[in-house]
Amino acid sequence: MTKTFKTRFDVCVTLDECSGYVPLDCPVCELTMRDANDANAYRTHMCCAECKMMWAEPNSEAWQAGWRPEGEQLNNYKIKLRQQPTYLLI
Ligand SMILES: [Zn+2]
Repeated sequence: MTKTFKTRFDVCVTLDECSGYVPLDCPVCELTMRDANDANAYRTHMCCAECKMMWAEPNSEAWQAGWRPEGEQLNNYKIKLRQQPTYLLI
């Protein structure tokens, strides 16, 4: 099965789910994928582990239907993530 999504640069990307592909950056928060937890979260929820806990799991039905955070809500979340010390993100 394949999935197609649009990146922040309006480039359409089609992924083969059987390839095991994990992008370098989370498609939601745009931070670098850091470890196996992020890779596993991407394989199940198409985002990093932080976004999985923050957005995907609390909104599981909407998430599976394609909903993603956006606008001010997402920008505030990205600012919060970028203000964390790096040792908390690794
Ligand atoms: Zn993320």
